[in-house]
Amino acid sequence: MTIIDTETVAPSTLVVDGAQLIDGEWVPSHSGRTIDVANPANGEVIARIPRSDAEDVEQAVQAGERAFPAWRDMNATARGRLLFRWADLIEQHSAALDSLESQEVGRPSWGPPPMAGQLRFIAGQTDKVQGVSLPTYSPDVVGYTLREPFGVVGGVIPWNAPGPMFITEVGAAIAAGNTIVMKPAEDAPLTPLALAKLSLEAGIPAGVINVVTGYGAEAGAAIPAHPRIRRMGFTGSPQTGRAIMEACSRNLTPLHLELGGKSPQVVFPDADLDVAAAAIATGVTLNTGQICAAGTRVIVDRSIHAEVVDKLADAMTKVTVGPWHQKVQMGPLINGKQHERVCGFIDIGKEQGATLVTGGGRPSGTDFDGGWFVEPTLFDNVTPDMRIAQEEIFGPVLSVIPVDGEAEAIEVANGVDYGLVASVWTRDVGTAVRMTRALQAGQVGVNNALGAGVIGGPFGGYKNSGFGRTMGADAVLEWTQVKTVSMREAPLPRF
Ligand code: NAD
Repeated sequence: MTIIDTETVAPSTLVVDGAQLIDGEWVPSHSGRTIDVANPANGEVIARIPRSDAEDVEQAVQAGERAFPAWRDMNATARGRLLFRWADLIEQHSAALDSLESQEVGRPSWGPPPMAGQLRFIAGQTDKVQGVSLPTYSPDVVGYTLREPFGVVGGVIPWNAPGPMFITEVGAAIAAGNTIVMKPAEDAPLTPLALAKLSLEAGIPAGVINVVTGYGAEAGAAIPAHPRIRRMGFTGSPQTGRAIMEACSRNLTPLHLELGGKSPQVVFPDADLDVAAAAIATGVTLNTGQICAAGTRVIVDRSIHAEVVDKLADAMTKVTVGPWHQKVQMGPLINGKQHERVCGFIDIGKEQGATLVTGGGRPSGTDFDGGWFVEPTLFDNVTPDMRIAQEEIFGPVLSVIPVDGEAEAIEVANGVDYGLVASVWTRDVGTAVRMTRALQAGQVGVNNALGAGVIGGPFGGYKNSGFGRTMGADAVLEWTQVKTVSMREAPLPRF
């Protein structure tokens, strides 16, 4: 894992302290209440955000409604040009945005963030939203479809990668001509606010992007509950996804859900085991394991089991841990609740009889006292029914499950409620082809731990990992509805 040197940028240079964006204005919550945003490495407060509720969401929806007609009717190429300009500004500020996201998420620098590239991919689709011409019963009738935006749409995103999540939802929604009310996570709302500020500088009109901050049960719940939010996008946990879908069902609001994962890493005897072990360890410790795609279950053929466990243990113990600015590979978890959850799962793994190979504790020393740190943790001899093999932990905890042969590997890999990402490690093309077909997941990587390296691949889940896709060639189309038009010059003669 590469360690990138980065300069710390004060959040106040990128966001307006204590303010959110409604109708192009930086405003407090109507109640005046605020929430502190803390650095997870030491608990230090780095900014304040408004603690909003349904009243603030109502203001944001009204702003979106005012902005919608002109945004919808703008020449699509001109709309795309504004998105490209926004991407350019994001690229110009990429080091500062990386620093901001590091501070609120607690992760070491990842280098230039992917947001400018993601947004350019989406911006290029803005003037390619096309309908089709339809066959007709008579030559004096013309039939075609129009792809139209919904109106004011809503989005709620989590804290683990707030910048990219914000861009994929907001970029695609507004490229289609919608206006949007977004609620970022209360733990990491600053990068989305900074991105929204750059959108205004790029010339995206007031009211097209509205960012309302606050807690999930207050500001978050008010968005899908709002009857004039015409479509929703949600990324987060399955529990919250259910609550969002229930709220949407009351208003018959369409939505997509990007939920969690319990991604398998299936390792075959012919794989390059050194490469596989290093990549798997990196994949489960990147962002302290707080990545929906993280490969947390190593399903390994029994013939190479001991060798793979040794290599994984070696790789996991070499991961350096500390406050994100200290040139380490892994920072703390996001907050106390997440720390309790991860440590709780480590206890459950031990109680249920898994073998703790490495990690399992909290690193000691003054650097770690004020933050939510946990060691990279490897469990061996995990059975498929154990809770650590079934439930999403969202931390740097890896479970090794030995199996006998391909058929059992497939059964174990697919034997969870999730289906987000799956990886196969093999040099055999036949094995790769069979496995990519057999694995139930929205993304499958061959000799690739996180499904990385593809530009604009559609991203989303099978089963309880959700439905709908962000990115991909249809990213913008997902935010449109289809209208069929049949047109004729004069009424047809009566028969
Ligand atoms: P979470 O569900 O607790 O919170 C996500 C967002 O929902 C936050 O903004 C939160 O404030 C809001 N929220 C909470 N309760 C709400 C409610 N009742 N109504 C409306 N909004 C509410 O998830 P989290 O802990 O922030 O994030 C971790 C989860 O996100 C994991 O399960 C992870 O796998 C998932 N995730 C999925 C993807 C993906 O693309 N599939 C990407 C990243 C994270």
